[in-house]
Amino acid sequence: MAPVEQRRGFLARLMALPWVAFLVSTLGADRLFAGGGQSASEGGERKFAMGVQVDRCIGCGLCVDACKTENDVLREPFFFRTWVERYQLGSDGEAHVDSPRGGINGFPATEDSPDVMRSFFVPKLCNQCDKPPCVQVCPVGATYKTPDGVILVDHEYCIGCRYCIQACPYGARYLDPRTKTADKCTFCYHRIKQDLLPACVEVCPTQARIFGELGTRSSPLHRMKRMNSIQVLKPELNTSPKVLYSNLDGEVR
Ligand code: SF4
Ligand code: SF4
Repeated sequence: MAPVEQRRGFLARLMALPWVAFLVSTLGADRLFAGGGQSASEGGERKFAMGVQVDRCIGCGLCVDACKTENDVLREPFFFRTWVERYQLGSDGEAHVDSPRGGINGFPATEDSPDVMRSFFVPKLCNQCDKPPCVQVCPVGATYKTPDGVILVDHEYCIGCRYCIQACPYGARYLDPRTKTADKCTFCYHRIKQDLLPACVEVCPTQARIFGELGTRSSPLHRMKRMNSIQVLKPELNTSPKVLYSNLDGEVR
């Protein structure tokens, strides 16, 4: 058996012990285990973030397709690193949400209906939380934060226990059936480290998605923050997301 599989097997057996699972759930894995693939890092100088200008998104789905191609995400409609949701707000105050195949092929036209007051698209992805619940629960330190604030998974250390998938309040993670490890958006870390844009940002025809560094005046994010009021998803959870939305309706969860 390869060393990686031996290590995974050992850690999986360790996690099956009730007292270990109890300590992880009460103390947090990052306090119990010293690192894994990488140690969580704080205090880096760069902090990458994404901006989503909701009023600019036309629901074309090019970003979803580009992400799947760039990151070898399975084409089946259950696995997404990013997806687009359509919100239709009715005259009764109810929000109807759909996302056929994650919006990868766009959306069927809505029929004119006096019952639909407003319709808009909301791109979603991992929020690269500054206080990430997924990092806290990972029992082997496989999910970690880079010095520049991006949350990544070390697939050599991940044992596929799904704790992070359950802990993520944004539904941003899935278990890749090929590797049996957790996966999610990385902000295209392999690209941004070469000063390239994430694939979804590069293909967006309306600049609904923008990318840059927080705190850098020349970043397009700086202009977006200056010109708009900024919202994040589920602010009440105090996860400090680094995906920043403008013109986000209060109905969006
Ligand atoms: Fe982790 Fe989910 Fe936050 Fe992404 S959105 S950092 S997967 S908790
Ligand atoms: Fe919206 Fe841009 Fe994605 Fe098209 S590519 S769905 S406009 S975010």
